[in-house]
Amino acid sequence: MNEFGLIARHFRPLAGPGGLDLLDDAALLAPPPGRELVLTVDAMVEGVHYLPDDPPDLVARKLLRVNLSDLAAKGAQPLGYLLTVSAPRGTGEDWFAAFAAGLAADQAAFGIALLGGDTTSTPGPFSLSLTAIGHVAPGRMIRRAGARPGDGVWVTGTIGDGALGLRAIRGELPDPDGALADRYRLPQPRLGVARADWVRAAMDVSDGLVQDLGHLCRAGGVGAAIEAGLVPLSPAACAAGLAWRETCLTGGDDYELLLAVAPENAARLPPGLTRIGTFVAGDEVRVVDEAGRRLTFERGGWSHF
Ligand code: ADP
Ligand code: MG
Repeated sequence: MNEFGLIARHFRPLAGPGGLDLLDDAALLAPPPGRELVLTVDAMVEGVHYLPDDPPDLVARKLLRVNLSDLAAKGAQPLGYLLTVSAPRGTGEDWFAAFAAGLAADQAAFGIALLGGDTTSTPGPFSLSLTAIGHVAPGRMIRRAGARPGDGVWVTGTIGDGALGLRAIRGELPDPDGALADRYRLPQPRLGVARADWVRAAMDVSDGLVQDLGHLCRAGGVGAAIEAGLVPLSPAACAAGLAWRETCLTGGDDYELLLAVAPENAARLPPGLTRIGTFVAGDEVRVVDEAGRRLTFERGGWSHF
């Protein structure tokens, strides 16, 4: 087993048209005619973004999906991706086979193909990085900036499952049917939901709803007022109870979308979105409970440093 054999056996079958069978120094990508490219990269480090015993196929799918979530937030359609794998010396071929099988499954599910990458060894834990390339109509990438006072604050899906899933895997809360752990290990990128036709600003929620909403507000020069009681929770998160509410609102790993939608466009939104509040003048993110009392959090979300 050497580097080139690994690439040929496990990554070459994933290569798309621009990938030149992974036999050249670089990929050659013809952008779809008349479209702009949207590029994003996200890294995942073993022990930081996933747990050492997480199955390699799920790690691969999460790596692809967290990037697809960024493309989804920008209203982009997936096109291709580049992949860097730094694996501890001595990593078995079975790891690469499982990792590539996970990618193959999600490539088919999401219509994206591998363009190239790099494979190295590392003295540390696994370090993975994926660059996703998508495309949008010219001028139609949805930005973080753009929310206006009076726009609704909307989210896709349910919030908090990923953060609770991590804690469930660690044994800190029950997760009888594994629903929370599943959401942590396998996010669902919300492709196709955010469209410039009805969304003024958007981002994906990866580091905690409250903190990420702060980013959206800062980019737009606005504040926001949201009601904790309106934040959509899954049945499993409801079952966890109020004691876990702060974790849901600030924990991260949601990979849902946070959207600013003008009131007149609310009726055009696809199903599966929930309005949790309103963008307001100012620069503050206010979270209130069902009784209108202000909730404050030690931290609004995750930060690596
Ligand atoms: P370089 O000499 O530039 O480092 P490599 O020998 O690393 O090139 O890569 C050879 C080919 O294999 C290139 O086309 C590269 O894009 C591809 N490749 C290497 N590792 C990966 C990977 N993890 N995923 C996809 N393609 C890869
Ligand atoms: Mg290389």
